[in-house]
Amino acid sequence: MNAGDTICAIATPPGEGGIGIIRVSGEKALDIASRVFVGAGGRTVRDYQTHTLHHGELRAPDGKRIDEVLVAVMKAPRSYTCEDVVEFHCHGGPLILRLGMEALLLSGARLAEPGEFSKRAFLNGRLDLAQAEAVMDLISARTEAGLRVALEQLRGALSEELGRLREGLVRLLVEVEAGIDFSDEDITFISAQGLANGVTVVRDRITQLIRTAEDGRIVREGVTAVLVGRPNVGKSSLMNALAKADRAIVTPIPGTTRDVLEEFVNVRGIPVRLLDTAGLRETVDVVEREGVRRSHDALARAELVLAVLDGSEPLDDEDRRLLDLARGKAVILVVNKSDLPPRLEPRHLKGLTEENRIVWVSATASAGMEELRDAIRDAVLKQGLEPSEGVLITHLRHRGALERAQASLEQVLLSVERCMAAEFVAVDLRAAVNAIGEIIGETTTDDILDRIFKEFCIGK
Ligand code: GDP
Repeated sequence: MNAGDTICAIATPPGEGGIGIIRVSGEKALDIASRVFVGAGGRTVRDYQTHTLHHGELRAPDGKRIDEVLVAVMKAPRSYTCEDVVEFHCHGGPLILRLGMEALLLSGARLAEPGEFSKRAFLNGRLDLAQAEAVMDLISARTEAGLRVALEQLRGALSEELGRLREGLVRLLVEVEAGIDFSDEDITFISAQGLANGVTVVRDRITQLIRTAEDGRIVREGVTAVLVGRPNVGKSSLMNALAKADRAIVTPIPGTTRDVLEEFVNVRGIPVRLLDTAGLRETVDVVEREGVRRSHDALARAELVLAVLDGSEPLDDEDRRLLDLARGKAVILVVNKSDLPPRLEPRHLKGLTEENRIVWVSATASAGMEELRDAIRDAVLKQGLEPSEGVLITHLRHRGALERAQASLEQVLLSVERCMAAEFVAVDLRAAVNAIGEIIGETTTDDILDRIFKEFCIGK
């Protein structure tokens, strides 16, 4: 990958659409684009002012017409990548876009790698690493809560906070190192107490941030919940009732089995993948046995079990057996058909699950559904997730780095307490500074960068 190259990619999703956009970025973007575009009065891309839009023709290098297009010109440094960027807004046909790409490649552009536009934005200082990751989160957000968190991160809320923490540690480090340099002269630059206090403040905030990571992951990635219960208790009806109100937006996930019914629902801002296991029964039928195996699989993967009981019937052995399967998981007991005369007594429910979360609902009469949603949210989130939530840690990568920073700071505090030499303190302080720097990309290896941007789609 050469940063001097001019890159191009189709920036819109595959398939037919109203428009399809080809994006070009790099030093030669204006020249290359000029070779494939002719505008009104024979003018071309090089003739246009920055941040203007023009009508014209996209042509192959041999002059063959490809499409009637609009071209957008954004000159460096005021563009997404901070380089010259040209976007061709074509008609959204796969053939048109392919021919357009061919024309650009023949004219000297290179195919962009996944995430290369964003990587350039990062390398050119337009976004820091956490913000670049937020771009990806923004695109893949499934609920408005996820979108909000990603937007905050893109705005730089996380970066600002981490920048401040890192800055605080750097100041302490400077003092500690000055102390080392002048150690012969018996001058103290910072007292042990002053250092410990400074480090403790940062350590505590980092600990707080780490605590948000579990919720952050859930908001970004969602959770898998599974409906378990014997036939006819109302699992499908419940699934429909939950889905009807607010379906989460999803893109198909490759490889998901369709034998276990699944539905993405939006529960209080959390994307929940809801699985309905029809086949958790012992069976001799080969086909059905496969269904049973998959149901068990679904149960094993789920982070939350909605154990459904029929409130209009007494508890039976099959109910108990199914509940046994859910042991060790977070379970909500959903007692359905609350609109019918109750035959299931509340005292029979005691001790059936460890936490004893019980919600009475009627899937068909739509009663108790709000309580069920609250129960799901409470079972899944540790902190509650306020809409006004400050900074949330949503990436495993960020969490890992924060945990390393935390461990280094613990070590600093220990060294101070034991009156260890300033050199030891400096090493650990620096490690913490670097760990925090990794998140925003101040101290990051090519390796980490490649891994991050590989996750992006091409054209982003
Ligand atoms: P599943 O086999 O567990 O998926 O159960 P279904 O969702 O197919 O429901 C079985 C039967 O129970 C259907 O006839 C539903 O209409 C009925 N049912 C489901 N939920 C309720 C409810 O809350 N109240 C009443 N009265 N009937 C329900």
